[in-house]
Amino acid sequence: MTPLSELYQQVILDHNSHPQNFHKLENADGSAEGYNPLCGDEIHIYLKMEGEKIQDIGFLGSGCAISKASTSIMTASIKGKTKAEAKVIFQKFIKMITSPLEDSSPDPDLGKLSVFKGVREFPTRIKCASLAWHTLQAALENKNKTVTTEEESDPHG
Ligand code: ZN
Repeated sequence: MTPLSELYQQVILDHNSHPQNFHKLENADGSAEGYNPLCGDEIHIYLKMEGEKIQDIGFLGSGCAISKASTSIMTASIKGKTKAEAKVIFQKFIKMITSPLEDSSPDPDLGKLSVFKGVREFPTRIKCASLAWHTLQAALENKNKTVTTEEESDPHG
């Protein structure tokens, strides 16, 4: 097993101390809240769309280093991307953090997001890392509701 300390790579610590896009967007086209009760992570994501393109994204919230860094890197990764492109990155990210260790070569498209590959060894941390992405999905649909990691949301979806 990887020691927990290895999970906290410098890039994660940096994003936790100095998160990117850490602000509310006025006149947001979409927003959603995410809550991970197991850890106490709470984030609010704001989107400014230009057609299908995510023109701008911001977030506010508080939580552990993993959730905050994950949200920060997520916003930097999808800013300027289309909804469809963001969805592809989302799927690759979730696959990376939930795949068995043997399959350990992260997709090059993930870039900085690959620093989270260690979370798969820490199941409770997977929720911290994925919270931003589930909240993003809700914000893209502008559901204006709170997404929680402890609720089987839509049984049909
Ligand atoms: Zn957390």
